[in-house]
Amino acid sequence: MTLPPLPPLREVIATHGLAASKALGQNFLLDEQLLDRIARVPGPLAGETVYEVGPGPGGLTRALLRAGATVVAVERDRRCLPALAELDAASGGRLTVIEGDALEIDEAATGAAHVVANLPYNVGTALLVRWLGLEAWPPWWRSLTLMFQKEVAERIVAAPDTDAYGRLAVLAQWRGAARIAMGVHRSAFVPPPKVMSAVVHIVPREAPAGVSPAMLERLTAAAFGQRRKMLRQSLKAVPGAVEALAALGIDPARRAETLTVDDFVALARALSD
Ligand code: SAM
Repeated sequence: MTLPPLPPLREVIATHGLAASKALGQNFLLDEQLLDRIARVPGPLAGETVYEVGPGPGGLTRALLRAGATVVAVERDRRCLPALAELDAASGGRLTVIEGDALEIDEAATGAAHVVANLPYNVGTALLVRWLGLEAWPPWWRSLTLMFQKEVAERIVAAPDTDAYGRLAVLAQWRGAARIAMGVHRSAFVPPPKVMSAVVHIVPREAPAGVSPAMLERLTAAAFGQRRKMLRQSLKAVPGAVEALAALGIDPARRAETLTVDDFVALARALSD
């Protein structure tokens, strides 16, 4: 599944006038070895369909194609489309590009099994919450491989009793097994962002029966909205929650960050009936 020799990414950027746009959160990765390492995070991709958000000049896309994947990519910046069309031709038609906003696409319809993206950070968190918060489970995706600001990546994989532990950790770990697959230094990006980055890999878990995602969301919003308060205070906003704590043997004098993901799930189940 090798690709024919391609011009260096810097040349693609220069030829197509792809000066990075701040408004679109563009920080490009040009190191092809690093891009190949990211493309290996989901596991073997030969014959698999990958959904890529924000291919830009196509660095990560190349790596995915080199790994043997078929890629469906959505890109908002139409300046990138000619460069991506060249990549499609070089890959023998294994790349389909949709011009549009990833927040408005019906990704399930792409038939993709894996999601891989180096995204603007605000869009990345919104998409993660959407993909994890799906009512229907198991989801259409088999794995998510997403670049985040390092601090956000740490919040996704955080353990209880740490400052990073909060709504994002409960949501991600309830629905998936999440790990930081690799750190990425800020100097790897062009232009370099202010902060370090990390690639997070998530595979879906079976969702526990009898738990409403909306209830879990409501509980974590109330509990972590006042994370310094005792649960008997912060959970007052959710009818029945304080009583359910007692029934589950969870001391209402505890604070949100001391509850495990399983504790939150048990509480949501007790209130979802
Ligand atoms: N994947 C390329 C790389 O690794 O070099 C580009 C990464 S750059 C951080 C983010 C890309 O996402 C840009 O190409 C940008 O135009 C695109 N983008 C930003 N917002 C988007 C959105 N809402 N939907 C689709 N693409 C978006």
